[in-house]
Amino acid sequence: MSTVSEGVRIDLGLIAATIEAGKRHDAPRVREILARALELKGLPDVDLAVLMGVSDPELLGEVFHTARRVKEGIYGNRLVLFAPLYISNLCSNECVYCAFRARNRELKRRALSQEEIALEVRHLVEQGHKRILVVAGESYPHEGFDYVLNAIDTVYRTASGRGEIRRVNVNIAPLTLDEFARLKAKNIGTYQIFQETYHRETYAKVHLGGKKRDFDWRVNAPDRAMEAGIDDVGIGVLFGLFDWRFEILALVQHIRHLESRFGVGPHTISVPRMEPASGSDVASHPPHPVSDVDFRKIIAILRLAVPYTGIIMSTREGADIRRETFALGVSQISAGSRTNPGGYAEDEKFESAQFCLGDHRPLDEVIRDVAALGYVPSFCTACYRLGRTGRDFMDLAKPGEIKEHCGPNALATFQEYLEDYASPETRSAGEATIARALAEMDPEPRLRAEKMVSLVKGGKRDVYC
Ligand code: SAM
Ligand code: SF4
Repeated sequence: MSTVSEGVRIDLGLIAATIEAGKRHDAPRVREILARALELKGLPDVDLAVLMGVSDPELLGEVFHTARRVKEGIYGNRLVLFAPLYISNLCSNECVYCAFRARNRELKRRALSQEEIALEVRHLVEQGHKRILVVAGESYPHEGFDYVLNAIDTVYRTASGRGEIRRVNVNIAPLTLDEFARLKAKNIGTYQIFQETYHRETYAKVHLGGKKRDFDWRVNAPDRAMEAGIDDVGIGVLFGLFDWRFEILALVQHIRHLESRFGVGPHTISVPRMEPASGSDVASHPPHPVSDVDFRKIIAILRLAVPYTGIIMSTREGADIRRETFALGVSQISAGSRTNPGGYAEDEKFESAQFCLGDHRPLDEVIRDVAALGYVPSFCTACYRLGRTGRDFMDLAKPGEIKEHCGPNALATFQEYLEDYASPETRSAGEATIARALAEMDPEPRLRAEKMVSLVKGGKRDVYC
């Protein structure tokens, strides 16, 4: 049986058959799939189903090792950093897993004023952030949707000291075509929307009220965003609601739909795992909990399935699991996050937060840790500012050319962080990371990177190529 919707079509029968076919496998078949994955062309669904079934520790180690090689081959050792900015927790929906749901009386409601948003932005800028993800529940104060548009203007307008926010991504409820066009006009980077679950029956059970009950309106939101000219769209699944194997295969169907309709798939995939949330029993007892091993498998399989799509890891997860997943395919992480509106200026407050954070470390500490692990923290925002978005980005990414830009841009933005914001400890660890990364680069990008880094050391800011 398949589910037909106007745009995206999730074929349930095909998913069931693929999972079944994937059960018949042996070690040589797994190794043959992994060898093909190294060609960086992605994998057919049945191969993904085979990899999902791997449990032998040695073979699983090989799956993780292959994901690591693919990640390093495409992204090198950079890791992009961002922070979410929760502007409002007002919401008219009833998602049973979320603290912001309308009927949750335990939550303290708050929509930040534009002045309060500016204050939050100043805090983030003063920590060294350059990329922000604006997040809100689905109900806006009296201005309606203009509230979000004004918030984006406020973020871009608010500078502090030597810094400013250079890319605003947005995670808000599905919009109409016209609203998406207005969002695009605000110069956003990525529009993010998670389907939560692609399983229609489960979707109906966990979305009890409000506009979000409409599965099709949500699943077709990335189509409308792209039709409105937003090239970079991020999708995702809330893991814990339904069987993760089903969700991965459905997510891949969604990606194929976008690729065939628009010539380009999503810019990023997010992999939120359900976390405890105030006023939600479901959030503490997910119906399909995902173990740490399976979570690592999910990231590795996605990395092999869509080698060129960014994978985002939030601070929902604890420091240890975050560290492990960097190697498996994650390319962007949030750091120093708060999920309560006003949380940066006034600190973390569970009574107004969306869910419990797993990683409470400040940005400086995360950066030091990331650098010690051998990664280059990056605050780069060059691509979308130079129009390298959507298909143009993928055309550069696929032959491996994007690394020529990412490497030098990561180093220049990291140097900027070290000069302007780092603690002395982080600065000395970071300088060593930059020296090592330069030594490992090919001659041409290395020359460019050295020039850019020395411009930053000489006082120039926002240097990119
Ligand atoms: N309100 C908009 C929506 O639902 O699309 C956008 C913002 S919502 C705050 C962002 C995402 O948070 C949701 O799409 C959902 O995946 C995630 N989320 C909600 N409750 C969560 C929980 N208890 N643990 C982890 N993630 C959660
Ligand atoms: Fe509202 Fe989004 Fe939370 Fe659902 S997930 S209750 S729509 S904020």
